[in-house]
Amino acid sequence: MIWLGLILGDEMTNELCQQFGFDRTAIGERLNLLGLGGPAVPMIAEELQSHVIQPNVDSIIEDFYEALERTSEFQSLVLEQGQINHLKMTQRKYLLSLGQDFDTLDYFESRLRVGAAHERVGVSLSLYQSFYCQLQNMLLALVPDEIRQKPDAFAELAHFIVKITALDMSLAIETYHSTEVHDLEDSITVCREESELLRRSLRFDTVTRVHSRAFVVQALEEKLGLAAKSGDPLCAVMADLDRFKEINDAYGHQVGDHVLHDVATRMVTGARGSDIVGRYGGEEFLIIFENASLDVARDLSERIRIRVLADPFIENSTKLHVTVSLGVAEAHDGDDAQTLIRRADMALYEAKTAGRNRVRTELDISSTSRATCA
Ligand code: GH3
Ligand code: MG
Ligand code: MG
Repeated sequence: MIWLGLILGDEMTNELCQQFGFDRTAIGERLNLLGLGGPAVPMIAEELQSHVIQPNVDSIIEDFYEALERTSEFQSLVLEQGQINHLKMTQRKYLLSLGQDFDTLDYFESRLRVGAAHERVGVSLSLYQSFYCQLQNMLLALVPDEIRQKPDAFAELAHFIVKITALDMSLAIETYHSTEVHDLEDSITVCREESELLRRSLRFDTVTRVHSRAFVVQALEEKLGLAAKSGDPLCAVMADLDRFKEINDAYGHQVGDHVLHDVATRMVTGARGSDIVGRYGGEEFLIIFENASLDVARDLSERIRIRVLADPFIENSTKLHVTVSLGVAEAHDGDDAQTLIRRADMALYEAKTAGRNRVRTELDISSTSRATCA
């Protein structure tokens, strides 16, 4: 009701009618649906105004506001008396136009605006509907005795009151539904975005932006299955940054994170496009080389090692020299992800014990390392 002044006082542009598809035909259909299409109807509308609304408009508004002021929704608006008086005036205007030229675009536009404005300020649809029912009952109760005594005339007017308030309410509901549809569309978009974010966060590691451990291990499991069927070679590589703790200790964890990210990027660029790089844990990475024999995988690992070594990492104009050790293992019959990773890990251990910053394959695993890793 608060916004009725804004709504009913505005010059009509009928933009809501356009938005909700109310042209002459649609208006006719809506009126017919509600039984408001007959030739006698404008006369009855006139009767509603002259016998029911106009003589009682002030008491209707008083009663209506009395009920309204009892609701917590209205109380929460904390209005000053001046504002309430203004509302009452606009409510008056609304009542005095109820049923007047209801078959016009302007009437439909004004009613759609009422609904849209109520919805916009957060009046719930159920509260809104209950006010319409209340208004309907008030108007019915105010039908004067001289009409009540004539059953046909009373029935006609009573039906009109029900239908015209139903028309206003149906137009208001129209705007509510459209907002609900928009809300639904918005929430579907949000859900999609959230699930995409979730999917990405499960798939990618947030620090390094390469694949997550879960993803790369799962991928290895799948690639092993495919390689077993096709007979194509497949290698797994475990790569671990050398003396990384020293970088963290000297420059802090945040710098360590940047280095981790940059090393991971160099691993991806050093590998082939089809290879899968994932962060296995802290400063360890698992790389899957499909269609690669042990020799090919060793060469690729060497390329990655050189990439990491080649240029220092610059952090706040400090040059950080980082190296990486890599261990390579080739898949054999009966391997699963864990057994293959374990052999790659043993080869990595070999690279570490041999002095770091180097590549070792499972063929280099010494018996001492085997015993240590077992
Ligand atoms: P080594 O050559 O034997 O591998 O030595 P290292 O220092 O790299 O290995 P160590 O296992 O002693 O230490 C690994 C370090 O990696 C310790 C830990 O602080 C760091 N680290 C693990 N995860 C993260 C991370 O997410 N961010 C940062 N900044 N550091 C990490
Ligand atoms: Mg390390
Ligand atoms: Mg480590």
